[in-house]
Amino acid sequence: MAKTIIISNRLPVQLQIENGHITATPSVGGLATGMKSVHSGSDSLWIGWSGLTKENIPKELEPKIDKALREHGCSKVSLTEEEIEGFYFGFSNRTIWPLFHYFLEYSEFESASWETFKAVNQKFADAILKNSKDDDVIWVHDYQLMLVPEMVKAKRPNAAIGFFLHVPFPSYEIFRTLPWRKEILRGLLGADLIGFHTYDYERHFLSSVRRLLGLEVSFNEINVDDRVIKVDSFPMGIDYKKFSNAAKVHQKNTTENQSELQRRLNVHKESTPDAKLILSIDRLDYSKGIAKRLKAFEYFLNKFPEYKEKVRLIILAVPSRSNVPQYQLLKKEIDELVGRINGEFSTVSWTPIWYFYRSMPFENLIDLYTSSDIALLTPIRDGMNLVAKEYIATRTDKTGVLILSEMAGSANEMNESLLINPNNFDQIADALIQAINMPKEEQMARNTILQKRLERYNVEKWANDFMKSLLEQRETTHQYI
Ligand code: UDP
Repeated sequence: MAKTIIISNRLPVQLQIENGHITATPSVGGLATGMKSVHSGSDSLWIGWSGLTKENIPKELEPKIDKALREHGCSKVSLTEEEIEGFYFGFSNRTIWPLFHYFLEYSEFESASWETFKAVNQKFADAILKNSKDDDVIWVHDYQLMLVPEMVKAKRPNAAIGFFLHVPFPSYEIFRTLPWRKEILRGLLGADLIGFHTYDYERHFLSSVRRLLGLEVSFNEINVDDRVIKVDSFPMGIDYKKFSNAAKVHQKNTTENQSELQRRLNVHKESTPDAKLILSIDRLDYSKGIAKRLKAFEYFLNKFPEYKEKVRLIILAVPSRSNVPQYQLLKKEIDELVGRINGEFSTVSWTPIWYFYRSMPFENLIDLYTSSDIALLTPIRDGMNLVAKEYIATRTDKTGVLILSEMAGSANEMNESLLINPNNFDQIADALIQAINMPKEEQMARNTILQKRLERYNVEKWANDFMKSLLEQRETTHQYI
């Protein structure tokens, strides 16, 4: 029987080793949830890195770890510290990530990390080859593994191989600057189906294929030798029910079972009932536009001084890649901006910005989403932005206004929000005024449409649509052979 193999940089389980005892806890992230219907039963396997380097795993524990992972339908790729440095921290995070988010000046083009990237991709491919047969279905995830499809196709020509990119695919003018651009494209073209979040990313990819490899592209199909490769967009959704149900439960909480954070938010609401809470949540990443957002907020306070003490901005910045210099500089810039703006505008009874630099448990995310009148999400580039979708899903009474950057992939599906250009401070300030003063009926009308769409196109549907398309593509290809 054909097996389904999923492959991603990280496995969907957290490993913990304590006194020789191993625990493997399943992750609760969106991808793991979406893949539930694909990754179930004994006919599927998820291959990836465990998060622990070879140096951190005592040799005698290897069999136990493998067993613990097998119980979750997983198999690990073992990587050394050096491999992780070149493949993950190096090429993935310092070359591909900035380049694909249009931060060309941050992209490092180091041959050594490219070599490690290739070698580690081969390791992942070898793990697939070891665990698969020729008629299996293989789904490769994300920018860290772009060479894997070609490596697997060479040895498993009849396997159905799908690839999904979770970040933007940049325009040809950006992509062409990469010294290894052709190798990356050829790597991806090993897949039978290549999926993107949006039609724009798909278009950019096809244009690069046409211009850099000179291949024939007709509509959304690419002809390579005797193969037809399909390219399509599959906007990733969220686990809608998880967020809407959590918000419903949250609503029923009595003061005793509310979190500490919720009690603080209540104090704010009770002391200043007219003041609006504005929320932003992102990983601390330069692509998220946090520093610009703070400046735009300062601009708003100066442009509309009558709104001082009438608004409060909550910034939740989740620590990320703090070993990369640009992220350290950005952290410093944000710390200083928050300090400066609070110093300039605070009064005895009002601090304009509440800043949290940490990650929060799910329960607290729900506290923040449900307590905020406005979500202000202004990425400079973002493959999708799931926070925007999660905010809308938690609005059980359908109130709340989403201000969203048009540079986020999710903006394509969220036209009923207030879309802004993150570089246009006047537009952001005006959108804040519109959001603050938007009648409840209008908020509800907009959110009703958004919620219906998000509920329908949830993460499970995303995974199922991709798999369906991959299997159809295999049928078509087999007809040609
Ligand atoms: N998130 C989290 N803990 C936090 C803050 C956020 O788990 O403290 C989650 C959030 O619920 C969302 C994800 O992190 O599902 C961020 O996804 P998004 O697509 O917005 O951005 P990414 O970080 O993937 O670029």
